Amino acid sequence: MDFGTGTGDKHAVTTRNEPAQNSAAGRSAMENRPEKRGLAPGLPGACPPFSVPGGKASPLDGDLLASCVHCGFCLEVCPTYKLTGDENNSPRGRLRLWREEAEGRLPYDPWTDFYTSECVGCLACESACPANVPYGQIFETVQHEHVVAKRSRPPYLLRMAAMLAARPNLFSWVMLPARLLRQAGLLPHRFLFAGRPAAIQSTAAYSQQLMEQHRPTGPRVALLTGCLMESLFREINFATVRVLIENNVQVTVPRDQGCCGAFQEHTGMNGVPVLQEQNRRAFQSLDVDAVVSNSSGCGLALGKAMQGTLPVRDVLDFLGELGPVKRPIQPSAARVYVDLPCHLIHGQKVAGIPANVMDATGYTWELAPMARDCCGSGGVYNIQKPENAREILARKSEFLDSAAGEPLILATSNHVCMMQWNSARSGGLVKRPFTVRHIIQLLDPGPELTPAPRTSNTSRK
Ligand code: SF4
Ligand code: SF4
Repeated sequence: MDFGTGTGDKHAVTTRNEPAQNSAAGRSAMENRPEKRGLAPGLPGACPPFSVPGGKASPLDGDLLASCVHCGFCLEVCPTYKLTGDENNSPRGRLRLWREEAEGRLPYDPWTDFYTSECVGCLACESACPANVPYGQIFETVQHEHVVAKRSRPPYLLRMAAMLAARPNLFSWVMLPARLLRQAGLLPHRFLFAGRPAAIQSTAAYSQQLMEQHRPTGPRVALLTGCLMESLFREINFATVRVLIENNVQVTVPRDQGCCGAFQEHTGMNGVPVLQEQNRRAFQSLDVDAVVSNSSGCGLALGKAMQGTLPVRDVLDFLGELGPVKRPIQPSAARVYVDLPCHLIHGQKVAGIPANVMDATGYTWELAPMARDCCGSGGVYNIQKPENAREILARKSEFLDSAAGEPLILATSNHVCMMQWNSARSGGLVKRPFTVRHIIQLLDPGPELTPAPRTSNTSRK
């Protein structure tokens, strides 16, 4: 099949194939098709493509969109292409649609918006691409332009959540009842990881308290606490502080940091530059070696904001370099399956979770089958496209029912992936019990933290 770069119009990617109907995702696509949403497909000129109010030019330059050489290496790693078999639902197909529209060769068509909305944003295509097409950057720009031009609109709940996420203190207070419900184990299962969040004490206050008690002397880091992590899953932030201090790392948690902007990026909403500027102000003047993050999506977003200032490191990758303190050997029948978040391996381009970090947990562990494949979480994709997300997870979680290990632990390093994995059990995809943990929790010494002898990593200066 010819996927040449010329102006010919018979390429498969520009054909409006009907989505495959032999899968839930395909059926969902048919149900959500533009005609059914009250939009007329193929209305030429109904909405000027890639233009924003005020006549502002699109920041997508032609070279960026033309950098795809149509080789197709990305197709087999794309979760939506694997689900639907639809070229338009692949990286190559989406890039082709966007390019043809930007060049004025494709009239406005709601199907283009539909296929844009189908993308999980996992960035697996970037890793597979021999031409280094910056798919993520292009996708974010297109999404944002679609929202600005009112071609798409995130659901009300997500717009509210984004508004709150930009105000971390308010978000934290609004989520107080949710933290209390998590403490009492009363929220739906997908929110209930092992551990209980502190209701009132913040990670900044906790970190300051532990720093004064233990006075570590090693490398200095600032911790990104995140908006959802701090307001709902702060037990993971507390565990991160304990693990770092046990490993003789000096931890600072700036109180004026804000949301990393990933939430807004995932939905194409406004406000990312303001949040990036807030975080640059909060972090860049600190006397630290790096900013560390325990959430791969947040770390990726903050990395973009901090470019040219401080390095932003995934906390497990950072600990892997230090050589973490080892936990006692765990019961021999217990087994940990490690899943790799897309925004860690494809976004931050980190090779994986360091083996010495996993060995230090004391558990027998192995990579989960399909560990490098997307779990369907995609930031807020499992809210926007729940059927697709569930079907992507169904394929990936199948192994758990027959996997060895008792207890069985699925461990990863991104809170939204953890919620998605928890939904595999509560949603009936996996029948046997298993626990979802953040890998930092497996290294956690707990409240009885005793710092290790300070010989392995020395004072920075
Ligand atoms: S980001 Fe993921 S879902 Fe989107 S096109 Fe790339 S591989 Fe497919
Ligand atoms: S792998 Fe890269 S160059 Fe090849 S089709 Fe996909 S996006 Fe285009």
